[in-house]
Amino acid sequence: MTTPSFAASSEFANPQLEPLFTAEQIQTRIGELGQQITNDYAGRNPLLVGVLKGACIFASDLMRAIDLPIGLEFMAISSYGMSMRTSGEVRIVKDLDVGVEGRDILVVEDIVDTGLTLSYLLATLHQRGASSVRLAALLDKYERRERDVQIDYLGFQIPDAFVVGYGLDFAERYRNLPYIAVLKST
Ligand code: 5GP
Repeated sequence: MTTPSFAASSEFANPQLEPLFTAEQIQTRIGELGQQITNDYAGRNPLLVGVLKGACIFASDLMRAIDLPIGLEFMAISSYGMSMRTSGEVRIVKDLDVGVEGRDILVVEDIVDTGLTLSYLLATLHQRGASSVRLAALLDKYERRERDVQIDYLGFQIPDAFVVGYGLDFAERYRNLPYIAVLKST
């Protein structure tokens, strides 16, 4: 998902990066999550659903840490801006190429903030007849939660700050950083 409200902000006129998690910390945590997922889904064939664009790097690394036969699909979501805040409605910009009926779905998201995007997406996948829907999120900005979202596999909890790197952008920049940093203004 893109973040137009942040991108339009002049708050980050002179951006500075304050490292939060190193590449090594991220990979260690993903290894642990992969092990846990491998154990939990033993004997099954889950379908990973990455949420574009932010989760593309997390999904790529997480799937390599899972020792099971798994599938990978992506969805892209766009919010309706401020109206989403009240209605919780989001728009699917790119849908799945396969049906989810009877499948064990593991949604892979970069960060859960208000929870509006994920609560909509998880409900949609349930409605489509998935036999189970779980969520792996790299980051949890729990202080800002507006909708209850159960994160089954969590990388790290973070405070209310705007973060970039490891797939997360600011106006399409910084996605390629191997680490995660807080974006600050001087
Ligand atoms: P939610 O619906 O939970 O409020 O929104 C989640 C989406 O907002 C994430 O997938 C991400 O695209 C965006 N987002 C929320 N917080 C941050 C942040 O700190 N940094 C970046 N780059 N995106 C964020």
